[in-house]
Amino acid sequence: MSDPNCIFCKIAARQIPATFVHEDEDVVAFRDISPQAPTHIVIIPRVHLAGLNDVTPELAPVVAKIALVARKLAAEEGRVASGWRLVSNAGPDAGQTVFHLHFHLLGGRPMAGRMV
Ligand code: AMP
Ligand code: ZN
Repeated sequence: MSDPNCIFCKIAARQIPATFVHEDEDVVAFRDISPQAPTHIVIIPRVHLAGLNDVTPELAPVVAKIALVARKLAAEEGRVASGWRLVSNAGPDAGQTVFHLHFHLLGGRPMAGRMV
């Protein structure tokens, strides 16, 4: 369920501090420590999996829930009219650095060019 060496598992367990913006039994969201946009929130499942390559059909509900949390947070951040992006890096070419599935919610600036 959780990996003792995983930084995002530690954040979800509140063993490492973060600025939380959402928390429920399945999903946690917190502000990125190195924001690439005025709104840059990391949304994760509580369950540990390395990334999108490891998603199974059983995990479909929690992945869908992440989309709903993203929509709620985008609204709370005031980004609905201006637009926002939800992106997940999977593997080396995508530049994934933390190997616990996560989605970046980005907003507050035009997203042309650099992705994250
Ligand atoms: P990725 O490169 O897609 O794996 O994204 C990992 C993200 O996690 C990066 O945007 C980091 O800035 C962010 N990050 C790493 N450590 C922390 C932390 N302790 N608190 C918040 N965000 C973090
Ligand atoms: Zn983890």
